[in-house]
Amino acid sequence: MPTPNPRHPNFPIPGGPVLRARGWRQEGLLRLLENVLSVGEDPDNLVVYAALGKAARNWASHRAIVKALCEMEEDQTLLIQSGKPVGLLTTHAKAPLVIMANCNIVGQWAKAEVFYELQRKGLICWGGLTAGAWQYIGSQGVIQGTYEIFMRIAEKRFSGSLAGRFILTAGLGGMGGAQPLAGRMAGAAILCVDIDPERAEKRRAIGYLEQVAPDLDTALAMIDAAVKEKRATSIGLVGNAADIYPEIARRGIVPDIVTDQTSAHDLVYGYVPKGMSLDQVRSLRDDGQGQLMAASRASIVEHVGAMLEFQKRGAEVFDNGNLIRTQAREGGVANAFDIPIFTEAYLRPLFARAIGPFRWMALSGEASDIARIDALVLAMFPDNRIVTNWIRLARDNIPFEGLPARIAWLGHGERTELALAVNRLVEDGELKGPVAFSRDHLDAGAMAHPNIMTERMKDGSDAIADWPLLDAMLLSSSMADLVVVHSGGGGYAGYMTSCGVTLVADGTNAAAERLQHALTNDTALGVIRYADAGYEEALDEIAEKGIGHVPVG
Ligand code: NAD
Repeated sequence: MPTPNPRHPNFPIPGGPVLRARGWRQEGLLRLLENVLSVGEDPDNLVVYAALGKAARNWASHRAIVKALCEMEEDQTLLIQSGKPVGLLTTHAKAPLVIMANCNIVGQWAKAEVFYELQRKGLICWGGLTAGAWQYIGSQGVIQGTYEIFMRIAEKRFSGSLAGRFILTAGLGGMGGAQPLAGRMAGAAILCVDIDPERAEKRRAIGYLEQVAPDLDTALAMIDAAVKEKRATSIGLVGNAADIYPEIARRGIVPDIVTDQTSAHDLVYGYVPKGMSLDQVRSLRDDGQGQLMAASRASIVEHVGAMLEFQKRGAEVFDNGNLIRTQAREGGVANAFDIPIFTEAYLRPLFARAIGPFRWMALSGEASDIARIDALVLAMFPDNRIVTNWIRLARDNIPFEGLPARIAWLGHGERTELALAVNRLVEDGELKGPVAFSRDHLDAGAMAHPNIMTERMKDGSDAIADWPLLDAMLLSSSMADLVVVHSGGGGYAGYMTSCGVTLVADGTNAAAERLQHALTNDTALGVIRYADAGYEEALDEIAEKGIGHVPVG
């Protein structure tokens, strides 16, 4: 039975033992599609997160996808082109059930303006990373990444602890909404600015944000008190970051850590320029795109100007993957890239070993299935400090959104081992239903993004998109259930290409074979990508785990 969804009553959370499709593989993917809408930001418009990241091109496409998933046999493959189903072809039972290509535009044409025009004509839609691939699990999907970044900073700058430290950030949307909880779990006092009061309230209602302050003075006083008491807290503030950041700097206050997760990548549908109301912005989105782009960029120049000022005064400042530095540089801030990107600054040694954001979703809809897998993870990886620490914290602190799900940064071999063990639990009837596995697109071999994932690679291979394409072909050859190639849309147009994968562990031997091949090869490719770029950690991993790398020369 689906569970009622108070946040979006028309989009219940899927679950229960009754299948509408002809097998659990198809049913699992259908439930994941339903799930991304049930936890999405604006499901009526099929928008899942990041301003424009959509689950399907339009409602007619959505209905056709649902019908195909319900009616297709296991030896068929559904083809999806930018959120629209275009073919249902006979392949074989070990082939992917769904393959997708979302928002890939030929190089010289891959610009925001071209994307908006193609979108207006109904020819394309942007899938974000996990929206169009039906893998988004709410803010919980990104939260461990945000938490690990804060903890790496704690180790690097603050003797391992953020108690008594002030984090300033902005953006309480689909992804940014993870920041207040991640900051509080890391022990800090975190202030999160968002222009939209509804977004702040939403995060408060689901337990990700503790309180919303009525004004800046009160917010700063609340932060100050928490810092003095070394008490972890999360405070929201409704306002424009391009006003608030400079004002905090003007008052001479220097936070310990500063970042931002507004939708700065999209100057039309995402970022809100200072001095404009949300209604004004909405009314300009169709006919005033030029005006909106100029106004957003001018605000971002001030917003990043304040971030650079905080950096100059000693704060740890980083870009959290929203292209804000790129927009500022295009607006004339020549030194915007003095701010480092989080991947290079904190996480690259993990990615070089293909340790990244792996996730699993209980298709039964039962939280007890995730609790059982939490116990399994703790028993299987007792020496993995990152994962055991995370699972204990997540169990105590993270409320589920939509289908009960968990994320954990696991690497090569570990993901396969866990998925196979879960598949056995499904087979033995120890769980209430099958479990789906996927990962973020921001994963070792899965993303080329020269301003986020692959910025300043050791060998200069930042802009080479062969790796995610190889990954997608490898995953299709390795029997994954869903494989997708995404490229950027909106302001990300021309900036990135990524690959996504999903598998359904339904307890069968066939599922075990798929999990074994697809998960092992996915991370193997990730390690090979970093080895090829000359990272020692990756070369170590290859030697230690016997990964099939072909050394040349
Ligand atoms: P979203 O569109 O759901 O939310 C963005 C939020 O920013 C909204 O709540 C909006 O009201 C707020 N906002 C916009 N302009 C503002 C301004 N000037 N001042 C204050 N608030 C403002 O987007 P999301 O899914 O939360 O993603 C946010 C950004 O992070 C996107 O650019 C996304 O692509 C990026 N992202 C990065 C990573 C990563 O690599 N770490 C992961 C996920 C998302």
